[in-house]
Amino acid sequence: MSSDNLACPSTSDLRTQPVAALDKEGIGPAMTSIPMIACSTSLSEHHSGGSGTNKNKQMVEQLQRYGVISSKKVVEVMETIDRALFVPDGTPAYVDSPMAIGYNATISAPHMHATCLQLLEENLQPGMHALDVGSGTGYLTACFATMVGPQGRAIGVEHIPELVASSIKNIEKSAAASLLKGGSLSVHAGDGREGWPEHAPYDAIHVGAAAPEIPQPLIDQLKPGGRMVIPVGKIFQDLQVVDKNLDGSVSIRSETAVRYVPLTSRDAQLKGY
Ligand code: SAH
Repeated sequence: MSSDNLACPSTSDLRTQPVAALDKEGIGPAMTSIPMIACSTSLSEHHSGGSGTNKNKQMVEQLQRYGVISSKKVVEVMETIDRALFVPDGTPAYVDSPMAIGYNATISAPHMHATCLQLLEENLQPGMHALDVGSGTGYLTACFATMVGPQGRAIGVEHIPELVASSIKNIEKSAAASLLKGGSLSVHAGDGREGWPEHAPYDAIHVGAAAPEIPQPLIDQLKPGGRMVIPVGKIFQDLQVVDKNLDGSVSIRSETAVRYVPLTSRDAQLKGY
């Protein structure tokens, strides 16, 4: 991505943050539409007023307009789960950038959430099992739970217990609250590199932090016919799409260049990597 595209001040600010201040996630081809979305979304927030739900809808419309979302189901779920319920108070909810959520973590940018939902859509049908590793705010776990429905299972695994607690509070305020109450959605404290064997095998696995290499337990916990979306790499990362074929073999392709926070130990993360 050339710096010419960085017309929007909020995006330029992000570029100048030191890596330790976290996540310039989304830098790469998937981000070419960001500055326009970020600028016009903030403008509409300043000038048109309207409820949070309307602004969330406007954000989803922008992502459609700029070609990030083409799937009707992804539109539906992103309209249903209001992003504002998942960002810390005082944080602009609908700007297309990752935002700090404490503990050296971030909520991913809306266009990355949309991209991952779309890549996993076929594996998030009603009744299916989904695992969200590095679930952070719980936003994507709530989206997954909404898509797989009460007969399915959506599991978030996050290694910062405080984020697990706040994500549960976020989900309780959202349209996915009844799924949490009903038990088809749950969030657990743990090392996501080990997956969550209890509800394996999974039709869909999403990893929200970049692994130096794909953790074997996650491959093992993928169902034949299942798909995992995982950023892989250290400084230069690829969003990899891992499909487990019906014979158990695995096919891997790179979707786009990305920048995520590392999938690491809790100690390393709290020390700032
Ligand atoms: N997808 C989430 C969060 C993305 S940030 C969202 O959009 O809200 C990545 C998250 O991965 C952080 O919350 C971080 O604490 C978590 N993480 C990093 N390494 C981890 C590990 N080994 N096990 C579980 N969670 C991990």
